[in-house]
Formats: sequence, structure tokens, C-alpha cells
Amino acid sequence: MKMKKLSLKEQYHVMTRDLDWEPSYVDRKRVYPYVEFEGIKVHDWEAWEDPFRLTVASYFKYQAEKERRLYAVLESFDQSQSHLRLSDGRYLNGMKLFLTGLTPVEYAAYRHFAFLARHLGGPAPRFSALCQSIDELRHCQTQLHTFSIFNKYYEGFDNYHQWGDRLWYLAVTKSYVEDAMSAGPFESLVALSFSLEYLLTNLVFVPFMSGASFNGDSASATMGFSAQSDESRHMTLGLEVVKFLLEQDEGNVPIVQDWLDKWFWRGYRALALVANLMDYMLPTPFMSWKEGFELYFEEQMMGGLFPDLEFYGLRPPRHVDIAIAEKEHYSHQTNFALYQFSHLTAFHTWTPSPEHLDWLSSKYPQTFDAVHRPVWEKAMRAAESGNRYYNMGLAPQCQVCMIPPIFTEPGDPTKLSLRISEYKGNKYVTCSDGCKWIFDREPEKYIQARTPTDRVLQGLAGGPTIPEVVSWFGITEGVENRDYVGSGDHKSWTEWQQSLTLAGGQQ
Ligand code: FE
Ligand code: ZN
Repeated sequence: MKMKKLSLKEQYHVMTRDLDWEPSYVDRKRVYPYVEFEGIKVHDWEAWEDPFRLTVASYFKYQAEKERRLYAVLESFDQSQSHLRLSDGRYLNGMKLFLTGLTPVEYAAYRHFAFLARHLGGPAPRFSALCQSIDELRHCQTQLHTFSIFNKYYEGFDNYHQWGDRLWYLAVTKSYVEDAMSAGPFESLVALSFSLEYLLTNLVFVPFMSGASFNGDSASATMGFSAQSDESRHMTLGLEVVKFLLEQDEGNVPIVQDWLDKWFWRGYRALALVANLMDYMLPTPFMSWKEGFELYFEEQMMGGLFPDLEFYGLRPPRHVDIAIAEKEHYSHQTNFALYQFSHLTAFHTWTPSPEHLDWLSSKYPQTFDAVHRPVWEKAMRAAESGNRYYNMGLAPQCQVCMIPPIFTEPGDPTKLSLRISEYKGNKYVTCSDGCKWIFDREPEKYIQARTPTDRVLQGLAGGPTIPEVVSWFGITEGVENRDYVGSGDHKSWTEWQQSLTLAGGQQ
């Protein structure tokens, strides 16, 4: 018997959504218990257009090809000791931040999309979630493999799991993704697929990948591109989710708007770490946070996406004006916080070189020299006279985003922005109007967040002294933390560069 050859579209249908069946002896509500409690109404799951249009067989074929190319690059990078040709040893600290801050988010996303692949109410979204789940596991693995190359030679790559769980500044990304995972299925899709993958993805991935290639790190750049090729599918899914929900029922519009308001701000706050990377952690910088934010957010989202979504009754996210006003100060305030608390970081910090300060002045001509340069110059003078400034205090952390109150009032860079909410007789600190709004909307959820600072105060972080807390965090004092200059990384780097020069200048 001759089989009829199916078109790609038919193959896709036969191999994905046609494999679905209607339960006959169990109620649908018992099979899919999570799809209704958020108040979202779906009338027709068939209207969900799967943006991936892939069968399992072709999905694995594409991904395997990508893996082959990536691992060839990683192997040759490792064998030819290409880490020695990075722009500077300082560069690796940005990658430590990537490994400890972002890789655990990839793993959490893998787990959560696997959950959605079981629990969404239609076969097309379940299949999209399945593919994305496997993508995220792949991202986590390729990142670990890439960074394992650096782990052979540098400090700060070996204990990412404990750091990710305990360190105060990594609570920012951890709380972001755990907030999403503990939300309902549709809210988590708006959080991960729309806010993170669509609205903000370019601001996350472009700096790391371009930063890597500008600084001679072809391993991380290739790993980033390999993940980014999945990201375009994830972006399409993000947009599809929002349009689908808005089209299904008018009653969904205000719910989605609330989630958009919340998750824009949550995502934007987590990007403080990226702003800090772009402006301070790349020895060869390629684009300032302000330029990136203007291009990828203000132009592409505020100028392109939101006017389109207005058709469905959606307006731009709440508090976006504060984010725009903050772009002049965001990275500077974040990096200075990490600098003064770097006895508690699993990476090294440094004061910017005079050339780097000039680069920052040129990127922030209205504000840098007046507001931030004096801070750095003072820190440099203190360090030169042997009094390197460390903040030995214990700062509260925002009950929502987990960032200590380091940001300033929109329009006044000299006044700290701090908000207090009262709930059931207790007071809670938030860092901004954005986080306060989120807290006040779901106080029962956020009072459960135990910030690392709370843990210290409650005696649950190793003990009351700084050395005890440092060790509870999983930091080896004098090894992963504090200044780059004088660190083990710095010594090895300098030694290896000298032997390269003696060997005939591979540089
Ligand atoms: Fe990913
Ligand atoms: Zn906050």
C-alpha cells in the first residue's frame, strides 16, 4: 500500500494537536484543575496558533544541529586556551553574574514550562510549552558547560547553586522567577513569555552576547546566539499568549493589564543587574544601558508594540515613566551598591579607570559628571589612602524586588526612594512606587518572602557577624569576594599575560 505524503502543515497537525483527545470518563475540570481560578475565560482553545509549527522529530533535528556547532566552538576555545585572549581578567566577573543570576532562572523556566505542558487546556499551547521547556533545559546545560571552561582557571564559578539560593543580590532573579512559578498558569505566561521573553529579552541577551564578543569571549557569545535562536520562538509565543487571551474574552483585558503592569516592573527591576553589567563590568564596553533601553524598550516597545496592542484595549505598563526617568542613574546606583558591599559578593569589583569614567561621561552627558563621577572619585581617593570603602551596615531589601533601597526619587538623584506599606500590623519596605504597588496588590503573597537581610536579623544566616554571614552565603573570604586588584584571579591573569608576552606575544 502506498502512503500519501503529507504536507508539512498536515504532518504538524497529525503529530501534535491531533494526538489530543477529549476525556470521556473524567471531567475536564479535574484533568486541568488550574485553568480557571485566575478568572481568565477561554472559549476556544483551537484558536491558539502555535507559533512553533514543529513536530517533535524536526524539533530535535534542529536542536541537535545547533548543539553540534556550539560544542565545536567550546572545544576549540578550551583547547587553544582562548580565555587568555579575553580583553581583561575583569571581564569574567560579568560571566560569574550571568552564571549565578541567570542560569538558575533557565532551570526554573524549564521546570515551569514542563508544568504548563501538562496543565494548559489546549493541545497547541501544551506543545509550545513542551518545546520551550526542553529549550530552557538546554540553555541551562549549555551555560553550565560554557562556564565550566572558566571554572578550570578562575574563582567564582564553582558554587553557583548555593550562591543562587542564598546570596542577597541573587535573591533578585530568584524571587522574580519564583514569583512567576507560584502564580497561576496564565499569569506565569505573561510573566515569562511576554514580559521576560518579549518585552525585555533583547535587553537581557544582547548585552551579554555582544558584551562577550566585544571582549574576546567567543565561547559565551556562541552559547548566547545558540540560546537566542530559541528565543525568537519564545518571543512569538509571548505575543501569541497575550493576543489569544485578549481575543478570547473582553473580561480578560483588565486581568492581563494588571499582570502586564506588575511584570513589566518586576522584569525591569531585575534588569538593574544587566544595566550594571553594561556600564561597569565590561572592560571593553559596547553600548550604555541608556542607549540599550532607548533602542530596545522605548523605540521598539513603546513606539512599536504598545500602539499595536491599543487595538485590544491594552495600555502601556504602569510606572513606565519612572523607568524612563531612572535610565540616567540606574546602572551607577546599582554598581556602587555592589562595590560597597563586595565583601558579600561572589565576584570582584573595582573602581572604573579614568578612561572608563570618561566613557560614562560621554554616554550620560547631562548627569554623570554632576552626580556620579564625584562618588567614584571619592571612592578612589579612599582606596588609594588605604581606606577602601566597605559598607558594614545591614540594608533592608525591597519586599518585592529584593534590591536594597539604592534608587532615588524620579527627578531628584539626591533623595533615596523608599516606600513603606503596613499590613496586619507590620511594616514592609519597598524601593519604589512600582514595587509598592505590587506589594499592596498582593500583600499575602509578598509577606511570605524572607529576604536574606531578614534571615540575618532572625539569626538564620550563620550568625550575627559578617564572617559568619559570608561563610553561610558560601563565599570563601578573600577568594571570590572583594576587589579585583590583588585577587587570585588578578594574580593568575597578570602572570599568564606576562608568560604569553615572553613566549612571543600571542596577544
Ligand atoms: Fe532560556
Ligand atoms: Zn523593589
